[in-house]
Order: sequence, then C-alpha cells, then structure tokens
Amino acid sequence: MKITTAQDQSPIVIIGAGPIGLAAAAHLSQRQLPFLVLEAGSRPGEAMEQWAHVTLFSPWQYLVDSASANILAKLGWQAPSPHRIADRPNIY
Ligand SMILES: Cc1cc2nc3c(=O)[nH]c(=O)nc-3n(C[C@H](O)[C@H](O)[C@H](O)COP(=O)(O)OP(=O)(O)OC[C@H]3O[C@@H](n4cnc5c(N)ncnc54)[C@H](O)[C@@H]3O)c2cc1C
Repeated sequence: MKITTAQDQSPIVIIGAGPIGLAAAAHLSQRQLPFLVLEAGSRPGEAMEQWAHVTLFSPWQYLVDSASANILAKLGWQAPSPHRIADRPNIY
C-alpha cells in the first residue's frame, strides 16, 4: 500500500533565490523532489546585487555548493581555482 502524503503532491517552497535558496533548489533537483522558488526581486541574487560595489572576500572553495556545481558542470561551467578570491565578473 502506498501512503500518500502532502509532500507527494505539493512542491517544497523555497523563499528567496539567494545563494542559500538556490543551493537548496539544487539539492532538491538532485533528489528529483518537486520544488518552487519564490523570489521577491526581479532576478536571482537580487539581495547581493544591492551591494555589487563591494569586493568579495571569499575564495571559491567556500562559495560553491556541491549539488549546484554538478548541475553547472553539465552546462559546461568550469570551476575556478578553489583558492582564488571570487570576483564579480565570475559570479554574474
Ligand atoms: C556587504 C556584504 C558583503 C559580503 N561579502 C561576502 C563575501 O565576500 N563572501 C561571502 O561568502 N559572503 C559575503 N557576504 C554574505 C553573503 O552575501 C550572504 O551570506 C548570502 O548572500 C546569504 O545568502 P542567502 O541566500 O541566505 O540570503 P540573500 O543573499 O539575502 O538572499 C535572499 C533572497 O531572498 C529574496 N527575498 C527576501 N525576502 C523575500 C520574500 N519575502 N519573498 C521572496 N523572496 C524574498 C531576496 O530578494 C534575495 O534574493 C556579504 C554580505 C554583505 C551584506
């Protein structure tokens, strides 16, 4: 007997397409679970866009989620050196 739960029918809703919301979406996608991302801004990463004038301080090794990297690699993305500081042209 298959027990039907609300999770079987409803997508998981992620509020916000910032780095964390997008990483959550990538993990759900990898598990083939239905999800819906709701973003208040006009594009993903809207909050970070608001401080685009600030130079990032983190090397790539701390910025790339594993599930996201898998999806991006299938699209031809090549991961930067893990020790390189991320700069804006490489994010957008
Ligand atoms: C000036 C500054 C410099 C930083 N530099 C670095 C750095 O160099 N390296 C580093 O690792 N981190 C840095 N950070 C921190 C980093 O930006 C955050 O850790 C990261 O953005 C958090 O991601 P998040 O997805 O949780 O939230 P956010 O990036 O805030 O994303 C949240 C998203 O949710 C959306 N949203 C909000 N409310 C709603 C709603 N009610 N409905 C729908 N959508 C909604 C927003 O529009 C946004 O797109 C910096 C932060 C600041 C402010």
